[in-house]
Amino acid sequence: MSTKPKIWLSSPHMGEKEFEFVKEAFETNWIAPLGPHVNGFEEDLQRYTNTKHAAALSSGTGALHLALILLGVQRGDEVLCQSFTFCGSANPITYQGATPVFIDSEKDTWNISPEFLEEAIKDRIQKGKKPKAIVYVHLYGMPAKVDEIRQIAASYEIPLVEDAAEALGSTYKGQACGSLGDLSILSFNGNKIITTSGGGALLSNNKEWIEKARFLATQARDVAPHYQHSEIGFNYRMSNVCAGIGRGQMQVIDQRVNQRRKVFEFYQEIFKNSEGITLQQESSENFSNRWLSCILIDPSIKNQIKTETILQALADENIEGRPLWKPMHLQPVFEKAPFYGDGTAEILFQTGLCLPSGSNMTEEDLSRISQVLDHLL
Ligand SMILES: *Cc1c(COP(=O)(O)O)cnc(C)c1O
Repeated sequence: MSTKPKIWLSSPHMGEKEFEFVKEAFETNWIAPLGPHVNGFEEDLQRYTNTKHAAALSSGTGALHLALILLGVQRGDEVLCQSFTFCGSANPITYQGATPVFIDSEKDTWNISPEFLEEAIKDRIQKGKKPKAIVYVHLYGMPAKVDEIRQIAASYEIPLVEDAAEALGSTYKGQACGSLGDLSILSFNGNKIITTSGGGALLSNNKEWIEKARFLATQARDVAPHYQHSEIGFNYRMSNVCAGIGRGQMQVIDQRVNQRRKVFEFYQEIFKNSEGITLQQESSENFSNRWLSCILIDPSIKNQIKTETILQALADENIEGRPLWKPMHLQPVFEKAPFYGDGTAEILFQTGLCLPSGSNMTEEDLSRISQVLDHLL
């Protein structure tokens, strides 16, 4: 085992201003789940994504939970959800007592397949239950087939929830990810492209929804001098200290995107002559923040290297790599959930890898990674 410092898949990368904002929070004693930084961070997010309203929350998962509540998802309902994703996209469906119906990926962007999405909608309606919402994801920062997805959602009049947790800084036809749903969510968990140490946001052009989200996120307090409640609420608001970190991070988001894109180019160079090893590709419509650089290894090539061999060689040098997300329809906890697809996400899971992609990796880190990979290829 190497004694060299660990190279992480994606670790927090602070700029220069975060600490100043946090200090300001301390100096003014705004150490609460509200305050000037929370408002300032929300404005930063609105401006950056060109969305009218944003609520800063304690996590992306909480943001998605509130989105489903706002859309009226209840016990016994069904919600369509991209299968190839992190569990944070799907778990909130079950918090509402609803059932996720999982949809496979298409091969171009690895995101929800418009074809299977429509097939699922038709079939669920025929079986007697129209889905209450669609949750789609821009996985690893790669924008999904947004126009097709929007068209299907509109034609069946099903609201669209955009999970842009991994895609702040990505664009689809020039429009910011985070602005491409009836409701959109972001995450600022420690491993995301920017972080507040833990946090999330809910965004929409619908003012009432975001105001309602803020209300629900602060225990649903009615207007009264005493504590009065007519609805069940949640403790989902972001703290002013965390929002201070977020304001600093928003000043460097574009730099972070550029740095991650450089890391992607570094891998492109390494694998350019490796037969059957491909990277996740942008189209002319898509601009990816390259949150994580991912490869696929075609196992049908003779003497092809195995994903496990690469992961082990990296681990031996104290470098973190990871398989792609295991699809939700293959998770034991979602065993009984319906699934529509042809096995694309499963093949991606079996043949893909995430490589270290942090924007704070040094030249030395990159050279350690290229030594391992060059040696294997
Ligand atoms: C990180 C993530 C979430 C959840 O965000 P948290 O802030 O960790 O709760 C949801 N969906 C996707 C796709 C994610 O990557």
